[in-house]
Amino acid sequence: MGDSRITKVVIVGGGTAGWMAAAALSRTMDNLQVRLVESDEIGTVGVGEATIPAIRLFNALIGIDENEFLRETRGTFKLGIQFHDWGRIGDIYMHAFGQIGQSLGMLPFQQYWLRGRNEGVAGRLGDYSLNESAGRHNRFARLPQIPNTNLDGIAYAFHFDAALYAAYLRRIAEGAGVERTEGKIADVRRNGESGHVEAVVLEDGTAIEGELFIDCSGFRALLIEEALETGFEDWTHWLPCDRAIAVPSENAGPARPYTQAIAHKAGWQWRIPLQHRTGNGHVFCSDFISEDEATAVLLENVEGRPLAEPRTLRFRTGMRKQAWNFNVVALGLASGFLEPLESTSIHLIQNGIAKLLAHFPGRDFDAANIDAYNARVRFDYERIRDFVILHYHANERTDSSFWIRCREMAIPDTLAQKIALFRSQGQIVREADELFVEIGWFQVLTGQNIAPRGHHPMADQLARDELAGFFADIETIVARTASQLPAHEDFIAQHCAAGVPA
Ligand SMILES: Cc1cc2nc3c(=O)[nH]c(=O)nc-3n(C[C@H](O)[C@H](O)[C@H](O)COP(=O)(O)OP(=O)(O)OC[C@H]3O[C@@H](n4cnc5c(N)ncnc54)[C@H](O)[C@@H]3O)c2cc1C
Repeated sequence: MGDSRITKVVIVGGGTAGWMAAAALSRTMDNLQVRLVESDEIGTVGVGEATIPAIRLFNALIGIDENEFLRETRGTFKLGIQFHDWGRIGDIYMHAFGQIGQSLGMLPFQQYWLRGRNEGVAGRLGDYSLNESAGRHNRFARLPQIPNTNLDGIAYAFHFDAALYAAYLRRIAEGAGVERTEGKIADVRRNGESGHVEAVVLEDGTAIEGELFIDCSGFRALLIEEALETGFEDWTHWLPCDRAIAVPSENAGPARPYTQAIAHKAGWQWRIPLQHRTGNGHVFCSDFISEDEATAVLLENVEGRPLAEPRTLRFRTGMRKQAWNFNVVALGLASGFLEPLESTSIHLIQNGIAKLLAHFPGRDFDAANIDAYNARVRFDYERIRDFVILHYHANERTDSSFWIRCREMAIPDTLAQKIALFRSQGQIVREADELFVEIGWFQVLTGQNIAPRGHHPMADQLARDELAGFFADIETIVARTASQLPAHEDFIAQHCAAGVPA
């Protein structure tokens, strides 16, 4: 590489995306000068508190001690998402992380479950999920495997305070040599020939030069859009929610080890339990409900006393036409937005960082490398988009025009094909390394009441009483294991409560 090596990286923005990028680059790349510019006056979006299990890989990459991280961010554990009223009013199902049941031979568990369900020998899908059973009883432990079995144990992610998370990452990044500049960027200087960004210029005239710029400026998209006019692909025709009202509240009881997503007439509400408070928000479509009504719906459904005035966030669902353009890579809200229903935004930041590390450029910014990065990021966005659309589209609600419109809308071909294949005999084909695995799709498809016409013929190879015994054994093991786990709040108190010394 010699002379063509990049030595100066400038990160624009100090929200979750900016500090995640700063921590990851400073912990993984030697001889890189990393400077982060942020404006306290502008501030951060201040939400983004539920994650998926892959975040543990990010923590491992930057060498985070998990208990310390949870103490510092007042975090809790997350076993999945519980959905209320999505398919029909009164429905409850969970998209639990981790394994469900056990595969037999070549067939995944869910194929036997489809048959067992039809023949009346299988219970609820969640009865075979340790994550769901533990969640139902507010229990948690770090348990990679169920002892004396070949069944996986608990798979988990976290809920945490977004502001504390950014502050925590900042300490890590600054400790690893990242320099921070406070100030408002007023101008972006580009090279007249190459079109590359050369410097960002602060209001006081200070120019901060770099070779690679990472745009983490949030919805403003200062570099990728305002300066480079990369373009945005709008997906609001598929995901019409465009606003959220957010309000924190006091905890009304022990923190649940899962997120709740409660459907309302024109959107849905999140409940994210932390150690010191609960995060609440109502995501909605402003064509169908006013902000005042949406606020009232949220406040009626908050469990504890509100701790602040509700605030509105506006967004547009979609993605930047290219996440990487010239010498600018956009991460976080600057690169696109998929609403928080499956807690995927922080994951997309992590994913962007991992792929940037894999495709880390030289100063020539080879076009083939940039194209490969953009294609991979697009694939990730599109598959997650499909998964989120599924929740809206596969509904049977008749109580509001919002839900009827979601049901009747045309959906992407990629999703239509997945649903058609599933309807046939319950199969799901995970494409390449798309984020959500078969059992994740299966839980949402069945949770939203899509019933396959049959099951795979190999599932018929077990005799009926063998099948019944198979389900009974797994259910017993799962229930017994779940009942022996500590209460979630006790586990936190023992290992990672804020204020408890390491
Ligand atoms: C309603 C809602 C709920 C969400 N819930 C979840 C969730 O549960 N899970 C999840 O994974 N994600 C969630 N997200 C997404 C998550 O909040 C973001 O992905 C995450 O916070 C990253 O934001 P960011 O760092 O890209 O932007 P921001 O937090 O907006 O940070 C932007 C930064 O850029 C700086 N900046 C901007 N302009 C300038 C300028 N001119 N000069 C200097 N600095 C500037 C700002 O000061 C700030 O530091 C949610 C998002 C929304 C809108």
